[in-house]
Amino acid sequence: APYQVVDVHDLLDATLVMFKGKLPAGVRLVKEYDRGLPPVPAYAAELNQVWTNLIDNALGAMGEKGTLTLRTGRDGDLLAVEIADTGPGIPPDVRPRIFEPFFTTKPVGSGTGLGLDISYRIVVHKHHGDIRVESTPGATTFRVLLPLTAAPA
Ligand code: ADP
Ligand code: MG
Repeated sequence: APYQVVDVHDLLDATLVMFKGKLPAGVRLVKEYDRGLPPVPAYAAELNQVWTNLIDNALGAMGEKGTLTLRTGRDGDLLAVEIADTGPGIPPDVRPRIFEPFFTTKPVGSGTGLGLDISYRIVVHKHHGDIRVESTPGATTFRVLLPLTAAPA
């Protein structure tokens, strides 16, 4: 499918609809959208897959209680989408491996270990963007950076 020029907030909200009813009562959702951001060239369905994977991981990490924050902003020529959780964080020994295909710390049958591998490929290879993570015990943030102007290949 060809790429479209889209408002990332519309994509994020479309993904959130899929999680309605899956948010535990103790999980607070915070949206910090910079509505002034320009639309970006994107493969919408693929980007929705990225948000889905990151939100799924965030909710899985937090369990019954915490805060899920979706934040957007501008970083030079890039648009930044942050998905942050207040879960236990990613241990330093695990951190180097999380983007590897089939790497998971979840029990057999509950995680494929493909979510971040697929997300990386969609963001980096398909959109020429970047995906970064910062994590401490109690705060994990995945930051997806998308070019504001250049068309994806
Ligand atoms: P899966 O979710 O199937 O395990 P992913 O590729 O989505 O596979 O994630 C790989 C691993 O990265 C997870 O098993 C977990 O150890 C770690 N991880 C990803 N996101 C988070 C997060 N928000 N908090 C803590 N650990 C995370
Ligand atoms: Mg996952």
